[in-house]
Amino acid sequence: MKHLLDYLPKLNDWLARREQPGFRGPQIIDWILEKRVSDFSAMTNLPQPLRELLASSFTTFTSTIVTHSTSDDGTEKLLLKLPDGGLIECVLLREENRRTICVSSQVGCAMGCVFCASGLDGVLRNLTAGEILEQMLQLQKLLPAEERLSHIVMMGMGEPLANLDHVLEALGYASAPTGLGISPRRITISTVGLPAAIQRLARQDCKYQLALSLHAPNDTLRTQLVPINEKIGIAALMAAADHYFESSGRKLTFEYVLLSGINDQEEHATQLAALLQNRTALLNVIPYNPVEGLPYTTPSNRSIQRFKQILEAAGIEIRFRQRKGDKINAACGQLRRQQLVPLLSDTQRSFTDR
Ligand code: SAH
Repeated sequence: MKHLLDYLPKLNDWLARREQPGFRGPQIIDWILEKRVSDFSAMTNLPQPLRELLASSFTTFTSTIVTHSTSDDGTEKLLLKLPDGGLIECVLLREENRRTICVSSQVGCAMGCVFCASGLDGVLRNLTAGEILEQMLQLQKLLPAEERLSHIVMMGMGEPLANLDHVLEALGYASAPTGLGISPRRITISTVGLPAAIQRLARQDCKYQLALSLHAPNDTLRTQLVPINEKIGIAALMAAADHYFESSGRKLTFEYVLLSGINDQEEHATQLAALLQNRTALLNVIPYNPVEGLPYTTPSNRSIQRFKQILEAAGIEIRFRQRKGDKINAACGQLRRQQLVPLLSDTQRSFTDR
C-alpha cells in the first residue's frame, strides 16, 4: 500500500496508466484536501471499480493519534505515531477568526538549540511531504465543516530548511487554490537560519513568510544558545535574510526567546536594536516556555518590560507572542519527550539529561 499523500505528484500518471480521464486526479485531490474525505468508498463521483482499486492500492492516513489534548483557550495538540514508530507533534490554535496550525518537519531536530525540547534527542529522520501534509489534514479534521484552516506555521518539531524539498512540496498543496487554498502570505517558515537554503527560497521566488530564530544579538551568545550558529554566524544569516526580503517583498520576522539572565539584559536589547535598525522587520519576542529538566527560566515581567522599552525607543517594531496551550505542553517537542523519556535506556537518558 502506498501513502497517497506522498504519491500525489504521480497520481495523474498512475490514473492515466489505468485509462482514467484527466479530471480524476483533481477529483480525488478535491475529496481529500477540500472535502476532508479520506475514505475512497465515500468518493461518490468516482466509478465504483476505481474506488475499489484506489482502496486496495493506497492509504491516505498513515499516522495514528497517540494523544489528543485540548486546552481551555481552544488550542488542540496531537501527538502522532508514524508507521515506523516515529513520534511527531502538531497543534491547532484558535484566535478570533484565525485557525492556525503548527506543523513538524522532522522527527526530532539536529540543530541542538539548548532551550528547546525537540532537539534534545537529536534527529531521527526527515518527514516525507505526505507526512507533513497529513498533519495539516489531521488538524483540519478537528474543525467543524464550516471552518477553514487560515494560517500555517512551520514551527513544530524539526528544522524545515533542513528538509526543504519535502516542506516545499507539502506547502505547495497547502497554498494551491485546488489544495487547501491558504495564501502564501499566511504561511510562515520558521528557521534557525540556514543561509544556502534561504538563498534557494529567494531564487525560487517563494512568497512564504520567513521567521528567523535569532535568540541572541551577538555571535558568542548565539553560538551558546543555537550551536549551529558556529558554522553560520549572524552576518551570513542577516545577508541571506536581506536577500529573501528583497526577492519576496515579505517583511522578515525575527524570533527571540527570552531566557532569564541569559539574553534578556539591557546590553542585549541595545545590540538587538542596532542589528534590526534599518531593516523592514518585526521582532517577535517569545517568553520562554519551560522544558522539564532544562535549567532555563522565563524572565520577570519587570525585565521583559525593560527589554521591550529599549527596543521600542529605538523604533523597532516589536510583538510579544502570547503563550498558548501551556497546560497541554504546546511548545513542540514536549509531548513527544514525555512519551520518549520513559522508553529511553539509562545510558541514553544520562546523555540527553546532560
Ligand atoms: N527549527 C525552526 C522551528 C523551531 S520551533 C526554528 O529554529 O525556527 C519555532 C520557535 O520556537 C523557534 O524560534 C524556537 O527557537 C522556539 N522555541 C523552541 N523551544 C522553545 C521554548 N521552550 N520556549 C519558547 N520558544 C521555543
